[in-house]
Amino acid sequence: MRLPGRYDGVARPIVTYGSNEVLHRPCTPVTEFGRDLKRLLLDMFASMEAADGVGLAANQIGVDARVFVIDCPDADGEDVIGYVVNPVLTVLEPLDGEPEVEVTEEGCLSVPGPYAELERRFRARVDGVDATGQPTSIEATGMAARCLQHECDHLDGTVYVDLLPEELRERLLAEAAGPGGELPA
Ligand SMILES: [Zn+2]
Repeated sequence: MRLPGRYDGVARPIVTYGSNEVLHRPCTPVTEFGRDLKRLLLDMFASMEAADGVGLAANQIGVDARVFVIDCPDADGEDVIGYVVNPVLTVLEPLDGEPEVEVTEEGCLSVPGPYAELERRFRARVDGVDATGQPTSIEATGMAARCLQHECDHLDGTVYVDLLPEELRERLLAEAAGPGGELPA
């Protein structure tokens, strides 16, 4: 489904690491495909735009629903823009000349500030449905594939820093909290 007024929603505050349990447990599948879902999608695009992000999962604005949005360049520099409801991630085998994995810096709006190197699969696909419940999918490479993996992790309650060694995770969370501050544990 097209969302012509993609950025006509209202930006909502971003949930930071440790501040709301909705970020740290698996989200609930969407079963209602009505106005509330369309409003959520518009608000998610607006929230991603306002926060200058390349992807956003619903629980990052405090909503327990398996939905993410993406606006992120792929390995060829083409912007991958869209959303998937109830996404299922499949990592794909590389095509000729492509690497299987890529190690590059990753960040997250819920851990504002720092970035850390993380290995992700180079090519991935997400299958799910659109705002009317019709099947849809997004396949991507490079940064956009990384984003698909990152957002699907979010919907399972995993923030990218959870995939890193504990010492590094604690350093990144302290850095995100700023000097003298701390994110709620
Ligand atoms: Zn994130």
